[in-house]
Amino acid sequence: MASSVVRVDLDGKPINPLTICMIGAGGFIGSHLCEKILNETQHKILALDVYNDKIKHLLEPDSLPWAGRIQFHRINIKHDSRLEGLIKMSDLTINLAAICTPADYNTRPLDTIYSNFIDALPVVMLLRFVRFRVSFSVEFVIVKYCSENGKRLIHFSTCEVYGKTIGSFLPKDSPLRQILLSSCISDMLAFVGRGVWFCVNVLYRCHQFFFYLAGVLKDPAYYVLKEDASPCIFGSIEKQRWSYACAKQLIERLVYAEGAENGLEFTIVRPFNWIGPRMDFIPGVDGPSEGVPRVLACFSNALLRREPLKLVDGGESQRTFVYIKDAIEAVLLMIENPSRANGHIFNVGNPNNEVTVRQLAEMMTAVYANVSGEPALEEPTVDVSSKEFYGEGYDDSDKRIPDMTIINRQLGWNPKTSLWDLLDSTLTYQHKTYAEAIKKVMSQPTTS
Ligand code: NAD
Ligand code: UDP
Repeated sequence: MASSVVRVDLDGKPINPLTICMIGAGGFIGSHLCEKILNETQHKILALDVYNDKIKHLLEPDSLPWAGRIQFHRINIKHDSRLEGLIKMSDLTINLAAICTPADYNTRPLDTIYSNFIDALPVVMLLRFVRFRVSFSVEFVIVKYCSENGKRLIHFSTCEVYGKTIGSFLPKDSPLRQILLSSCISDMLAFVGRGVWFCVNVLYRCHQFFFYLAGVLKDPAYYVLKEDASPCIFGSIEKQRWSYACAKQLIERLVYAEGAENGLEFTIVRPFNWIGPRMDFIPGVDGPSEGVPRVLACFSNALLRREPLKLVDGGESQRTFVYIKDAIEAVLLMIENPSRANGHIFNVGNPNNEVTVRQLAEMMTAVYANVSGEPALEEPTVDVSSKEFYGEGYDDSDKRIPDMTIINRQLGWNPKTSLWDLLDSTLTYQHKTYAEAIKKVMSQPTTS
């Protein structure tokens, strides 16, 4: 519950209650952010979305202690003139709205580009308009009011703007590629075993090159992703997977340029695989039967149905997963520390929770067996090609480790929850929420 004690920022200054216009508040991240803000602060939320199922528990009944502090507006930001008024009423706008499930990037590239770039444009433009109209046309007092209470934007981008690592463009069997992609000792040992031939040759031909490789092995510059230094490396245009990353990159550039040229107060967030309860949907239960959500929900769905987990292209891609509740702490710090957050792009992830997708599948299988009390399948995974699973034009990010220097320096934030612990609480939620519903769905005769 929000206490009446005055909250202070990281510099010890009192935090005044804000009105926050949260676009996409009804989604996975939005629902957790609303919950946190209502529980722990006195800020007001204007929650905008086309859906509100994931925040219904925060909106009803009217007797809830925070009832006066959240208002839901069913708005599609593509075409709704109320958006401007709601942004104007707010001190801060947070834009979470997006199509952000990889199954859509290559199959619905136009919707993906519109959602992540074109539809986000008016939000940035309205913020510029609100600032300028007030600054140029109204007297000094209001100008002062405006600059003291500058409208801010926290824009949600993605770690996917980094794209692929340089190493992923090397031939699949190149030992150098394996070195570049390896970050754990077991991988390296495996490499040494497989790469004896390579090492002998390399040593024989050029021992300088060997020292270079040794440098690569130690140098995180080759794989850790830094907001202000790493390049954005996407696949070819035919690989429509990159439509999302490219649209997100362009809107980032626009927001950044608005900051540089027109003084827009902004913060850009790059989430690195935030996962937890309420993420996406379970196909056939609270989403379309043929829908393909992100990996957490795909694997949860398979576990609930006692079907093998599908590993796309061998499940070799690597991800770092962060618990949604840790990540939301970082966003609250950004909200309440504008002087430390404005003008920055922040990676928000957990570099300690790196696994391959195959390892994720194995861990989820083990955790789910504990949670449900049902033994795991004898063959818990099955390989599937990306073409079969996602269709033509899919491509993948091979490895994503966030550099934490900037968020650490500016906001002192660090993730806390281990992958095992976050899967344990998330799969406990999935089991409680869906196990009965899945049984019902599976007992119904299928219509052909
Ligand atoms: P989500 O799909 O659960 O939430 C997005 C919400 O935006 C949905 O409720 C949707 O209804 C709403 N929305 C979409 N278009 C809209 C429109 N035109 N008008 C009004 N509402 C609209 O996704 P999420 O995981 O909560 O992601 C939120 C943001 O974070 C997105 O911008 C996404 O690209 C970014 N992101 C998330 C992750 C992650 O790990 N979850 C990773 C990278 C980036
Ligand atoms: N993936 C998989 N099986 C699934 C769903 C996803 O192997 O059932 C893989 C996918 O190819 C990618 C990783 O899991 O390598 C993470 O996918 P997700 O959809 O969560 O999004 P991403 O991290 O790629 O944005």
